[in-house]
Amino acid sequence: MNINLISDTFTIPSKEMLNYMMKAKVGDDVFKEDPTLNKLEDRVAKLFGKEAGLFFPSGTMSNQVAIKIHTQPGDQLICDHFSHIYHYEGGGVSFNSGVSCRLVEGYRGLLKSSQIEDVINPPDFYHSPPTTLVSLENTSNKGGGACYDLKTLSLISSLCKKNNISIHLDGARIWNAMISTNTNAIDYGKLFDTISVCFSKGLGCPIGSMLLGTSETIKKAIRYRKVLGGGMRQMGYLAAAVDFALDNNIDDLADDHYKAKELGEVLKSLPYVDLVQPVDTNIIIFSLKSKCDENEFIKILEHNNIRIIQLGKGKIRMVTHRNYTNDQHIYTMKTLSNLKFC
Ligand SMILES: *Cc1c(COP(=O)(O)O)cnc(C)c1O
Repeated sequence: MNINLISDTFTIPSKEMLNYMMKAKVGDDVFKEDPTLNKLEDRVAKLFGKEAGLFFPSGTMSNQVAIKIHTQPGDQLICDHFSHIYHYEGGGVSFNSGVSCRLVEGYRGLLKSSQIEDVINPPDFYHSPPTTLVSLENTSNKGGGACYDLKTLSLISSLCKKNNISIHLDGARIWNAMISTNTNAIDYGKLFDTISVCFSKGLGCPIGSMLLGTSETIKKAIRYRKVLGGGMRQMGYLAAAVDFALDNNIDDLADDHYKAKELGEVLKSLPYVDLVQPVDTNIIIFSLKSKCDENEFIKILEHNNIRIIQLGKGKIRMVTHRNYTNDQHIYTMKTLSNLKFC
């Protein structure tokens, strides 16, 4: 048994998905002539109530292009201090857009409207950088898969409108958020100017993200995607994988969430575990008692064929996903319960 709880990005396409991909009609997407992808971009845009969508090789590129569209060099965006765009996109916010991040310390990666209001720079005060974008993340990765409620998002969206600030959603795991909070894609489409969604995580596609927005925004996005080298050719095979995932794999996320909750409960019962953060979706973040060594714990689990990672600052993470099977789950629960450590 080789159990991977490192990330839901380790999911691989099923045989059924691969078979479906093989049958895709394809064309050259740089010429916008791939019929399967053209249909998919329409499908996902409609799902979120947006005019248009654009396929990207990664969520990073999709986020970066959105930031480029909403800002000018010298501007400032507001995001939570846990944000993926700040921590894990290689400094792209400044590299690609010449923009600085005003970091706000939210609760588990989630911001409140009042916290954002406090850090919007007054537009006529020329000493400070113009605030032109708010970027939120749902679910929050570094926040342990925490989800926004629609009320909070709605307040933030109104605040942005009032202040003439664009609002972007990094919805890499929006599918998990929708399952967990029983909300619909259309609810989010109404509140954000642009949304970036990923298919390559819990949904099991090999590659793929999409940026959603108005037709005008997506027209700009095609240009920036090209600049970054993200124009791709016979994308229909990958678009077919996404079609398959949207038809078949979304409901399974509830199962990932259930397993994550169970893992969280077992961890809570272990004498050497200090704190387990609330488990809302498929991510579990916990820490060990101060006398116990995280690296040693991770090594012992690895000897038992279970791979997990640490996030630094004493935090350890597990992520459940569709390739973490029921058998693996039973084995992991038993192994954790019986583990003699520290
Ligand atoms: C995974 C992820 C992304 C995009 O990652 P890529 O590896 O570039 O596809 C963006 N935001 C969040 C919150 C993520 O977890």
